[in-house]
Amino acid sequence: MTDTLKPVRVRMAPSPTGSFHLGSARTALYNYLFARKTGGKFVLRIEDTDQKRFVEGAEREIIDSLDWLGISPDEGPHLKGDFGPYRQTDRMKIYREHAEILLNSAHAFVCFCSPERLSQVREQQQKRKEKPRYDGLCRDLGSDEVAQRKENGERHVVRFKMPEDGSTSALDHLRGEIVTENRYLDDYVLLKSDGMPTYHLAATVDDHLMKITHVFRGAEWLATFPLHVQIIRAFGWDEPIWAHLSVFLKPSGKGKMSKREAAEAIKDGHSIFIKDMGDLGYTPEGVLNWIALMGWGVAEDDVMSLDQMVERFDIDNLTPSPAGINFAKLDHFNGTHIRLLSPEELATRIKPIYIQAGYSVDDSTLMAIIPLIRERLVTLDDCLAFGGFFFKEKVDPVPEELIAKKMDAAGSAEIARKILTILETLPEITHASAEEPLRALVEELSLKPNQVFGILRVAITGQKVSPPLFESMEIIGREKVLERVRNAIGILGNI
Ligand code: GLU
Repeated sequence: MTDTLKPVRVRMAPSPTGSFHLGSARTALYNYLFARKTGGKFVLRIEDTDQKRFVEGAEREIIDSLDWLGISPDEGPHLKGDFGPYRQTDRMKIYREHAEILLNSAHAFVCFCSPERLSQVREQQQKRKEKPRYDGLCRDLGSDEVAQRKENGERHVVRFKMPEDGSTSALDHLRGEIVTENRYLDDYVLLKSDGMPTYHLAATVDDHLMKITHVFRGAEWLATFPLHVQIIRAFGWDEPIWAHLSVFLKPSGKGKMSKREAAEAIKDGHSIFIKDMGDLGYTPEGVLNWIALMGWGVAEDDVMSLDQMVERFDIDNLTPSPAGINFAKLDHFNGTHIRLLSPEELATRIKPIYIQAGYSVDDSTLMAIIPLIRERLVTLDDCLAFGGFFFKEKVDPVPEELIAKKMDAAGSAEIARKILTILETLPEITHASAEEPLRALVEELSLKPNQVFGILRVAITGQKVSPPLFESMEIIGREKVLERVRNAIGILGNI
């Protein structure tokens, strides 16, 4: 591990342009783990300079998602910190001053080219099969001319003056040295005509001023990575350590997930947006474990708590290879982490789900059913399917489901009556008291256990799949069990 003991300053810098998704959550997680591991700081910076793509409420969603995951930052727009403001639109003066520094040192120039001219240039370059880039018309304007044209109110931008010769070598922690010939690089815009900085200027300036030691960001920034390195060198600053994280591919492994596909996923109970995860019954523990391994080379199905992740995190083990989004793995980790929760904690998490579904929940029943249902839960809301009947006054079995295999309604009603007679003789219906006489009934009638118990299961739970039958009856209680069996006899009689 590099810099093991030195406290790092890391940041995640999302743009508030849409819902907070898995990729951002993973960047946040690695930042969080690295900061905790080294006793450093995890900074949240909101990169909101692209006004056209700004989405109202997105910043709140980012903060809420991080809180839900349990990986809240140490500094950010909603928190105190010595390096604020943490929202880029509150830092405009800083960017203009820094653009000025680059202009004065001839690392940048003012460009008056109109969008029309630029698109003509691009077209011609495309015709000649050249890579589109700025053709350099304004690179060497004299300072008097620049001052005059500015005074005349001519629309202008500030561009980085990319060296024309030589090459730029940039070091990515996951991929090694990346060398790019400067002639393939553009004179990128740093300040737009409305005075807004581009990402390139704002992010590099902020990373420096916020004393960021390591930059984790998406691999989509690799294309402009040499530019960022150039900007930092033009200022004469120290570079952070860079790690461009692997991209996420759609479940098929082919290409990135489109907006439409992301919207489709929710129909199958899946989502790539953190805000949906809770409603879909996923736990922060499960989601974190899942995303942690998408880009981190620990053993594939390694189950880890957040504390264990902190302990084991090592940026040397991050991997650059693309990660396919595999929702089956999320289900696996979620179910596993549900089983790692204490019974009390699990009860606390599922109680609101029952309440929201309209059940009145008493805590002793809730605690009693935990051991019966916990093994079966993949998502927390599975508690409704497996355990909703415990809290119902009555159940409504589908009449046909009460009919035992290879039997008719009358025959099944007959068995149900025999079951009722047995159960009525028991002063208490418990696992211990009910199992023996009911198994004896199976023998006596020369039937298969699942024929007899199937009728009873549907009668008392209202469903074909349920937690263990005898334990369930014990929790439901004698009175309700008898009532439900009688009800089933009535239903079978009406078929
Ligand atoms: N604002 C950029 C984005 O959301 C951040 C990239 C970075 O982390 O530097 O993609």
